[in-house]
Amino acid sequence: MGNKPDILLVEDEPAIREMVQFSLGRAGLQVREAEDVKTAQALLADNLPDLLLLDWMLPGMSGMDFARRLKREEYTRALPIIMLTARSDENDRVGGLDAGVDDYVVKPFSPRELAARIRAVLRRTRPDEAEGPLKAGELELDPLTHRATVRGNALEMGPTEFRLLRFFMSHSDRVYSRGQLLDKVWGQNAFVEDRTVDVHILRLRKALGIYGCDRMVQTVRGAGYRFSAKD
Ligand code: CA
Repeated sequence: MGNKPDILLVEDEPAIREMVQFSLGRAGLQVREAEDVKTAQALLADNLPDLLLLDWMLPGMSGMDFARRLKREEYTRALPIIMLTARSDENDRVGGLDAGVDDYVVKPFSPRELAARIRAVLRRTRPDEAEGPLKAGELELDPLTHRATVRGNALEMGPTEFRLLRFFMSHSDRVYSRGQLLDKVWGQNAFVEDRTVDVHILRLRKALGIYGCDRMVQTVRGAGYRFSAKD
């Protein structure tokens, strides 16, 4: 995985999933797929995406009800949501905006329109990425381009590792417990356990290790983790 914006698509029609996967892939976005709410929840717990693309009409729980639930949960409250709707749902859209959905795209949509809407929502919902690049020794992270580099070499990591690194680099030389990191990086939530932090710390160290920067992520026994560029 690279540092492309990570989109989770929840859609029960395979043909639409395939089309979205293909066209957004070409537009430089990374797409994970779920065919129903249950699968989507498992994927959300594993890794929070940058944006959720949610079909209105799903088997079991409807996309709209799922969106309402996500907006109530602390963990997913800030997750941007674009609903995919049919024309006939048009009258219900006002209710959706009340539920905190960020935008709607009406089927059938053009791949270009969809990509443009996604980018617009990401720009609006990630104002923190307007901050300048962060530096720690030879490691650099640019929130705007979503790239982490060492001496100009791009590091490969997942979106959660990227968020974790961004938090660390803007809060270096301080110790954070697993619980604090969950709050700061994942948001307080019901799905994620403390050991999830360890898993992502491991992945982050592995990504940094290629250029010898893994020791910047330090384990503080009995306390948690600290990021430091000092030896
Ligand atoms: Ca559907």
